[in-house]
Amino acid sequence: AKSTGGNTFQFSSRQIHTRYQRRLGLEARLRRALDRDELILFYQPQLDVQTNTITGVEALLRWQAHDGGIIPPDKFIPLAEETGLIVQIGEWVLHRACKQLKAWQQAGKAAIGMSVNMSPVQFQSREMPAIFKRVVGSSGIDPCQLTIEVTEGMLLEDLDAKIALMKGLKDLGLKLSIDDFGTGYSSLSYLRKLPLDELKIDRSFFIDFFEDTKSRALVSSMIFLSHNLNLLTVAEGVETEAQLRFLQKGGCDLYQGYLFSRPLPNDKLIELLSPED
Ligand code: C2E
Ligand code: CA
Ligand code: CA
Ligand code: CA
Repeated sequence: AKSTGGNTFQFSSRQIHTRYQRRLGLEARLRRALDRDELILFYQPQLDVQTNTITGVEALLRWQAHDGGIIPPDKFIPLAEETGLIVQIGEWVLHRACKQLKAWQQAGKAAIGMSVNMSPVQFQSREMPAIFKRVVGSSGIDPCQLTIEVTEGMLLEDLDAKIALMKGLKDLGLKLSIDDFGTGYSSLSYLRKLPLDELKIDRSFFIDFFEDTKSRALVSSMIFLSHNLNLLTVAEGVETEAQLRFLQKGGCDLYQGYLFSRPLPNDKLIELLSPED
């Protein structure tokens, strides 16, 4: 609550009470959603910038409420992180993503990659690599098909412990990606220390892209930096042909965005996948 000058506060105790109840209600509903299988994954294609073929997908979480509405992740992931429920949700996401890869394989589709988002909160548990080992191991997929996306937020404290956990994931054969690159507060020096395979340029750099020469300069520089570090470079939030042409000239490796497709449920996504040859 914000002080209004004297000794009064803007939120009355009644308002605080209502907010608290709303939160409790959401938390209870989220727990129930997990039990009742109301969480679903959508998949957004990632394409080769030069050939425009699908090389993989990013799994993006949705909550399909029983009244039929779809709740986006921004509406419930922060709460799941505060309550720690994200650990269970994250395990479910990984399990579901592996199962889906296996199902596409069994449907005769050519192998593609799958990227999964990981919350900094999941990185607080030493058990995490063991959980990943069990889930990925029992799924029967090739671990190198999976990329784990982490954000700079994860690095804010206890960097050495986080690096150890990341190495634990690498030892399982998984790939690691730094998501939302360029938006965090950390210094570039962590790029030397982390066992990364991929760098994702945040989509905020593509907003006002063509009016803003600075955004273009930053994107070019990030592609250059990423390649010099031998990382695969992915652009997210690509919405126009002009942006794609810029990435082609700049030598970016992969892109995703509304230009090709929004995130799709499995029954729509599977139609885009080509058969195994
Ligand atoms: P993110 O990982 O940066 O994911 C990219 C977001 O950009 C997605 O939003 C996607 O739908 C959106 N997007 C993709 N292409 C475009 C485009 O061309 N234009 C615009 N305007 N937007 C585009 P979404 O699905 O709402 O997810 C939001 C965030 O929620 C994600 O950001 C990620 O941080 C988080 N999230 C999603 N799924 C999971 C999950 O399974 N676990 C965790 N921990 N976080 C997740
Ligand atoms: Ca992501
Ligand atoms: Ca991102
Ligand atoms: Ca983001």
